[in-house]
Amino acid sequence: MSDHIENLVIVGSGPAGWTAAIYGARANLNPIVYEGAGSRTMIPGGQLMFTTDVENYPGFADGIGGIEMMLEFKKQAMRFDTRVVTDDIVEVDFSIRPFLLRTSGGEDVRARTVVIATGANARWLGVPGEERLAQSGGGVSACAVCDGALPFFRGRVIAVVGGGDSAMEEALYMTKFASEVLVIHRRDELRASQIMQDRALASEKIRFLWNKTVAEVLGDEVISGIRLRDTVTGEESEIAVGGMFVAIGHDPNTAFLRGHIDLKENGYVRLPTAWRTETNVPGVFAAGDVMDDYYRQAVSAAGTGCMAALEAERFLAHGG
Ligand code: NAP
Repeated sequence: MSDHIENLVIVGSGPAGWTAAIYGARANLNPIVYEGAGSRTMIPGGQLMFTTDVENYPGFADGIGGIEMMLEFKKQAMRFDTRVVTDDIVEVDFSIRPFLLRTSGGEDVRARTVVIATGANARWLGVPGEERLAQSGGGVSACAVCDGALPFFRGRVIAVVGGGDSAMEEALYMTKFASEVLVIHRRDELRASQIMQDRALASEKIRFLWNKTVAEVLGDEVISGIRLRDTVTGEESEIAVGGMFVAIGHDPNTAFLRGHIDLKENGYVRLPTAWRTETNVPGVFAAGDVMDDYYRQAVSAAGTGCMAALEAERFLAHGG
């Protein structure tokens, strides 16, 4: 192992990670970003790499593509000499100082401060047609707040899959644009909180298709419909839709942290103090979707990335 000790190691390369890098680099902390090795479901740049148009990030009046946006974030971080390694961090030891992190390439890295910004993955159904049409911007998405306002979905019949609060929220959001919203749920009872259920059930634009799962997403270039399977009778049917939003939950990327920092029951990083990004381990900070199961927006992730870098800088200035 080399004797070199990093001031600031940033794990993850979404809006939170790159913003932490920009702030850390401009504070002369010489940060190093482990941007992730890439897999089928997650690539460097995070969830925005799967988003076609970002229209709600302030400063881009005409919108910007998700991929283009993340490349700009990275470019800005590198302009201030951020170092970038295309590897995952697969193991950590926060019980020793400096901290020890191990990369997927088998390298050991020692760090005085760490910002965890590994994000969360939207859960997908894993049925034929879904991934292809999500990646091509063909009308399948896991985020109505991100994509639902696009002209593509206006005046169409839109399917929302799931029975939790996210599904109710996405369905209600889509009533602003869709001609009708079909909520497809695998049981005949919702998991969502009573208030969200009441709101969705009261909407004239929302129709519930109970005891149904999606067996296939239909359409070549763009979605044309979905094939449903009844979970009670097994019967299959097809319905025409102009869009599908999958709202069946998210999984934070925290497996490598288990047992090393406090996580909430749902796996997200627990932050002990409101308006601070420090975890229960002094010197380890968390930013973006990995600690946020509530807002999950690029702009809020970037904001917390800034906070984490400023806190790391202060921690180091106080001899941490
Ligand atoms: P969730 O509560 O875990 O609900 C996931 C839903 O998706 C469940 O109805 C589940 O069905 C369904 N589902 C899961 N896997 C599926 C599959 N493979 N195929 C079909 N359906 C599937 O997740 P969430 O709605 O994202 O909410 C997560 C947390 O955030 C919750 O604590 C929620 O209260 C909170 N939240 C709050 C708000 C709000 O208050 N405004 C908004 C969003 C989220 P089953 O019910 O059959 O398991």
